[in-house]
Amino acid sequence: MAVALLCRVERNEADLWLPLLKEAMPHERLLGPNPADGAEGAAEVDVVVVAGAPPGLLCAFPNLAFIQSAWAGVDALLADPTLPDGVPVARLIDPELGRNMSEAVLTHVLALHRRAPLYRQQQAASMWRPWPQPMAHERRVGVLGLGEMGLRSARRLLEAGFQVSGWTRTRAEHPGIETFAGPEEFQSFLGRCEMIVNLLPLTSETRGLLNARAFAAMPHGASLINLGRGAHIVVPDLVEALDSGRLAHAVLDVFEQEPLPPESSLWAHPAVTITPHVAAITNPRTSAKLIAANIARFRAGQPLEGLVERGIGY
Ligand code: NDP
Repeated sequence: MAVALLCRVERNEADLWLPLLKEAMPHERLLGPNPADGAEGAAEVDVVVVAGAPPGLLCAFPNLAFIQSAWAGVDALLADPTLPDGVPVARLIDPELGRNMSEAVLTHVLALHRRAPLYRQQQAASMWRPWPQPMAHERRVGVLGLGEMGLRSARRLLEAGFQVSGWTRTRAEHPGIETFAGPEEFQSFLGRCEMIVNLLPLTSETRGLLNARAFAAMPHGASLINLGRGAHIVVPDLVEALDSGRLAHAVLDVFEQEPLPPESSLWAHPAVTITPHVAAITNPRTSAKLIAANIARFRAGQPLEGLVERGIGY
């Protein structure tokens, strides 16, 4: 039995992860980063911890029995052609990550609510022009996905005084939050919300969901905050909606190609705010302990935290 760490070696991430994982699970034999096929010990590896590693490395381990992601989103891992069938995959569940995400959501929602992008543009033009300022309780924010990230964020928006709606795959009820479920309620959900925050996982059902049809269903002048995955958005449809004024602003943290190439027209778009996939970054200090605890559960045959339903994609 051994645990292997798969990570982005070019960023020296192993220097951070290996000591923390070693400390969190001193009884485990830990290999890595990225032991190759036939490397010493690879056949003993039954657990891998995947911390943003490139695809194609999982075939090095013929006796793999459990895969623990160090990220909350597992779309890239599930798309890895070397992912063996039937091996359980767990995503990271770290309350610290949810807290970070809710902070990012609140930051962006408040900035749009208080017209920060507009006043920044007016400042650049030395323009003194005050606009009416609605109260938070007069605005409804919609959160796509009420999971670990979405529910915490929705609650934080409620605390800040906003009206909040949420959309999920399966029906859910949460105090204070108006809830919608399934594709049949998607359009009516969108029609209620002046701002939409996307915190969905990327699956075959959610890819391209934020398209011209969705933007047309949102109130005129609504804004979009995408903190989920880049491929949730059909970018040409978004640019058209922004250019026509149908949407007022888009905050984009995630992109189909990351880093976003310098030639992308999004960089200079006046109605777009770009952040480099930083809404909620895994903190190895808190998550190494949680990862070790899940591996201990696996060894003890106990139910795993964050077990992914591979057929559904999250
Ligand atoms: P969870 O699995 O906890 O929650 C997913 C939520 O999305 C659930 O409420 C689920 O509904 C809903 N959902 C999934 N599929 C559909 C669908 N087809 N229609 C409607 N609702 C759907 O995930 P997390 O909250 O932990 O993470 C969500 C995503 O956030 C990650 O997958 C990742 O892509 C992104 N993320 C981005 C980060 C960043 O820095 N930008 C950092 C961390 C995560 P139900 O409740 O019915 O299951």
